[in-house]
Amino acid sequence: MDAHGAVARISLEAVRHNLQVARQLAPTAKAVAVVKANAYGHGDLTVAAALKDDADLFAVARFEEAQKLRAGGIRQPILLLEGFFNRAQLEFSALNDFHLCIHTFAQLDTLELTPLAAPVTVWVKIDSGMHRVGFSPEQADEVFARLAAIAQVVQPVNAMTHFARADEPEQQAVTEAQIARFKQVTAGKVKHTALCNSAGVIAFPDAHADYIRPGIMLYGITPFGDQQGTDFGLRPAMNFTTSLIAVREHKAGEPVGYAGSWVSPRDTRIGVIAVGYGDGYPRTAPPGTPVLLNGRRVTLAGRVSMDMATVDLGPDATDQVGDEVLLWGEGLAAEEVARHVGTIAYELVTRMTARPRLEYI
Ligand code: PLP
Repeated sequence: MDAHGAVARISLEAVRHNLQVARQLAPTAKAVAVVKANAYGHGDLTVAAALKDDADLFAVARFEEAQKLRAGGIRQPILLLEGFFNRAQLEFSALNDFHLCIHTFAQLDTLELTPLAAPVTVWVKIDSGMHRVGFSPEQADEVFARLAAIAQVVQPVNAMTHFARADEPEQQAVTEAQIARFKQVTAGKVKHTALCNSAGVIAFPDAHADYIRPGIMLYGITPFGDQQGTDFGLRPAMNFTTSLIAVREHKAGEPVGYAGSWVSPRDTRIGVIAVGYGDGYPRTAPPGTPVLLNGRRVTLAGRVSMDMATVDLGPDATDQVGDEVLLWGEGLAAEEVARHVGTIAYELVTRMTARPRLEYI
């Protein structure tokens, strides 16, 4: 029997294509494919395996994410964006070719005090203006000097930074100041540098440096709020779909769903679709948020509930139970849905729950 719930259909070909787009934008840089948070909801092991011949490195946030990739047979070095937090993690990292981002003096102390079975590659995180993690420009020289004295650290070390506002075209000067600060701190002192997230890859070619770290663009989504991936030749990797499970006649003036918050201005047909916040479709998606059904846009009517949402099909609708509904993907950009919801497409794809099936094409 065909299942009727939400399905995320993921094109690995699109992911590979999107990495090539990043590479064409930064032809001399190596590429770190960012696959944290389950590859932004797309399935980290499957995505990493699909990029095994295309990515130079993978990056994740958490130690456990890196362990999963290694255990799953991924061979490239894995950059731990948050580094390590104890000796055991450090020892494991050295043995498993995890590249370590170092951003605290506590990490540096542990690195000095822990004998390692293999040399470890270090990326010093410089806080060039994001003010989240990283060493300040004033601390950098001390950090470089201490690292230079550690025999089990691959020399010279590398350095990276992260942009706070590269996705805001009107804030170009902020990113340029970050780039200048980072260059000043690292020039002549490190082996490789890496600055660019997707927004940097697209908008700051002068900062491509030795390695780029594209994340969201690999999934066909742009970091720029008012645009969409296809504007940059990217292909949406995920088609998040479900099906129509009921079509109901509905009278003008009658409410739909919890709290009766939406009242139909006309006699219409209401379609019930099998998706809700139990799948990760946002409960905050307001009436007016589009979905794509049989080649046309229809919009949410009433509140999203745990398993179902309702859409206004219009009085003349001929849609049938079982028809496929696109929630976001090709033809309805996640970026557009995110704008209705008041969030970013990163959050839409990343917060899907375990219930929707991931299917790979
Ligand atoms: N580099 C670092 C340090 C990050 O934290 C992230 C994501 O948050 C990325 C790169 C990838 O960013 P994006 O998904 O915007 O390309």
